[in-house]
Amino acid sequence: MLTGLARDGGLYVPETVPTIDASTIAAMEGQSYEQIAYTVMRPFIGETFSDDEVRACIARAYEGFGHAARAPLVQLDQGHFLLELFHGPTLAFKDFAMQLIGQLFQTALKRRGDRVTIVGATSGDTGSAAIEAFRGLSNVDVFILYPHGRVSEVQRRQMTTPVEDNVHALAVDGDFDDCQARLKDMFNDFEFRDGVGLAGVNSINWARVLAQVVYYFSSAVSVGGPHRTVSFTVPTGNFGDIFAGYIAKRMGLPIDRLVVATNQNDILHRCLSGQGYHKGDTIPSISPSMDIQVSSNFERALFDAYDRDGGAIAQLMDELKAGGFEVSQGAMEALQDHFDSGRVSEEETSAQITASLKTSGELLCPHSAVGVHVAEAQRAQGTPMITLATAHPAKFPDAVEAATGLRPPLPPRMADLYERAERLTRVPNDLAALKAHIIAHRAS
Ligand SMILES: *Cc1c(COP(=O)(O)O)cnc(C)c1O
Repeated sequence: MLTGLARDGGLYVPETVPTIDASTIAAMEGQSYEQIAYTVMRPFIGETFSDDEVRACIARAYEGFGHAARAPLVQLDQGHFLLELFHGPTLAFKDFAMQLIGQLFQTALKRRGDRVTIVGATSGDTGSAAIEAFRGLSNVDVFILYPHGRVSEVQRRQMTTPVEDNVHALAVDGDFDDCQARLKDMFNDFEFRDGVGLAGVNSINWARVLAQVVYYFSSAVSVGGPHRTVSFTVPTGNFGDIFAGYIAKRMGLPIDRLVVATNQNDILHRCLSGQGYHKGDTIPSISPSMDIQVSSNFERALFDAYDRDGGAIAQLMDELKAGGFEVSQGAMEALQDHFDSGRVSEEETSAQITASLKTSGELLCPHSAVGVHVAEAQRAQGTPMITLATAHPAKFPDAVEAATGLRPPLPPRMADLYERAERLTRVPNDLAALKAHIIAHRAS
């Protein structure tokens, strides 16, 4: 959890995936989200934290959510449900994982008498979720690099308005790829990395994946699981959220299909359709949190599909640096055992926002609309479909207004976001300058 990325460049995965038996899953019906979270995550945590510490971290992580159910389910149509994952402090599903790892980091570091410096790069949602999760925690400094002028106003204000002095929003003169490249440079600079105690919280952190497994259980139980099988459709970028669904399935939750929904940046859809895994150019879309070229958590799914052969995966990742690779027939069959996929154009996304408002009264954010559109095409008779709604419509008001004529208001608890004072530092796209800034502004 504290290390994030392994030093050899690979990703951490659990050696074994614990299973939960059907009677324990059935007993989740009527339990609180926090109780279910404890049951699902406890077997992965071992001796690292005591039972009481895990319970306390879970309680503090979700107490600031704006909905008592944390992840409520609403019905869109016969057999089609929307899992609202946007009631956290920054109105996107990333709060589920980030709020929890904020608490877990603080608990672990305090016990060790240690501090870390978290540096993250964001195109918007990850950075705001990280700043919200770590602000005011005494053993952590947080620096978030975002591309100056290229995040939405709500996203920027969520990063620049927290007043705690352990969190720092850095507006980089560059684009998101520049921010990510500088972040990688810092992690590869072992002297700097060890000197400031650099830690990462990007979506390849295993603890983030784990926290997201929980709502697959809570929602499946709400529609009749484990006595009936459920399918999920997930708006997908880095494959973290849907990979959590795959882990839930391996833990014993009866899931039929896991459907990957992409926007026009469709590397995953092409791959799952048998066309190999080849990078293209990222095309900006109205669902910007899914505008990716390389889907970092997909490596974990490939690892299982190649029978956990680390050497084979390392070779594929090398080929990816040079542009891409073909997936072997055996691995393709293993992936297709679990995953389906669909791709949604910009026009279809807008049309879905309009249509869903008309047929169900639900105002969808563009990412969630991508999911609902794919789910409508992939639904099977008799198996409930749950589509994950990954952000609140008010986080992407321009796209929603263009589709519906309605400008979604912020929830009342954050309605004054546009009035709060902002605090940020403009920084050049330059490694030495960034390192110097971080060294000068961290607390220790
Ligand atoms: C991050 C994000 C996604 C993509 O999630 P992955 O885990 O990267 O697949 C989708 N929608 C929204 C709103 C997001 O913030």
